[in-house]
Amino acid sequence: MLTRPFGQTGLASTLLGFGGFHLLEIDLETSTRLLNTYLDSGGNYIETAANYGNGESERKIGQAISHRRQEYMLVSKIADRDRDGFLRTLDRSLENLQTDHLDVVLMHGVATRAELDQILGPGGAIEGFLTAREAGKADHVGLSMHGRPDVLIEALKQYPFEAVMTTINYYDRFNFPAIEDELLPLAAEKGCAVILMKPLADGLLWQSAPEAFQYAFSRPVSVVVTGINTDAMLRDDLTFANDYVPPTDEALEQLYHDAPELGNYVCRQCGLCLPCPEQINLPLIFLMEGHYDRQMRDGIIRNASDFALRDRLRFWFGNDRQAREDYAALTVKADRCTDCGLCNERCPYGIDVMRKLKIADYKLAGRSIY
Ligand code: SF4
Ligand code: SF4
Repeated sequence: MLTRPFGQTGLASTLLGFGGFHLLEIDLETSTRLLNTYLDSGGNYIETAANYGNGESERKIGQAISHRRQEYMLVSKIADRDRDGFLRTLDRSLENLQTDHLDVVLMHGVATRAELDQILGPGGAIEGFLTAREAGKADHVGLSMHGRPDVLIEALKQYPFEAVMTTINYYDRFNFPAIEDELLPLAAEKGCAVILMKPLADGLLWQSAPEAFQYAFSRPVSVVVTGINTDAMLRDDLTFANDYVPPTDEALEQLYHDAPELGNYVCRQCGLCLPCPEQINLPLIFLMEGHYDRQMRDGIIRNASDFALRDRLRFWFGNDRQAREDYAALTVKADRCTDCGLCNERCPYGIDVMRKLKIADYKLAGRSIY
């Protein structure tokens, strides 16, 4: 399997990383088989978190593959924001994982600037990491967060984090374009490794897995981490990684145009519907809709399972309240629309822009649609 440099750490990670969250859903025997098969197949990146099942995922990894510890990079995430809590949790993780050190430890799910301030401030978790590094318990430090990348961007500006873990897939690229447009270039400039999570958009892209993995592997990231809990899934994911061929720019454009999950509802942020005679900034409003619920609900029920999946995923990233605040601060909103129809004629993706605007307004401002 291909490897890539893991930022400037001197480590090299394989293209496909094994995410440990879904080990919670399977027994130890199956976990042991999957983890060992992954290593046997050339994979070298194992990731988990202290709070996955209150240490259950870590314990399974420890029991399954700690005897092969020198064959893989081991990464875990810790959610404590203070020095002492971080050190206590790290010791428990090392015990669970049956090892004496982590290659990388990530500050888990850093959602707000207040959390970042606490981590970096006096008595914060970074002090815990520095103490742990001194003691040989953790070599490198990074942080993780899904959805809006604002805090990750701020973090990379403030501290020399060595790795950043973020959501990247061909669906959410249109909900959170700042991840690829701002966070990734900043990470490259700082020599910070990028760990890609959610290549299937939390399962939304399950019917398009080959395309989704090819897209994920084509990003400027060190490793693509995916949860694995069946033999078939592991086999498929290994095949995607081993057979990876970079897509052409034309193939990517085609994907953005034709992907069924994007369909004729998700705004591709091309801006071609502008200018609106009423100065309504349509792509910006649809970006806010992306932050609000990932543009998952379009008012059409195709089938019960699709509806249920989207309903479960739409607020997963918790950016909805901020999106409503951002919309409230806009001077020109959807109610200025005169239904002139120009935007509908211009959208190259066949989106019924006027209808979508009403739905976005309904979501963001709580107005009625009809
Ligand atoms: S239909 Fe409404 S949003 Fe579209 S261009 Fe006309 S005024 Fe602007
Ligand atoms: S033309 Fe369509 S895809 Fe492009 S910004 Fe406007 S609504 Fe979005």
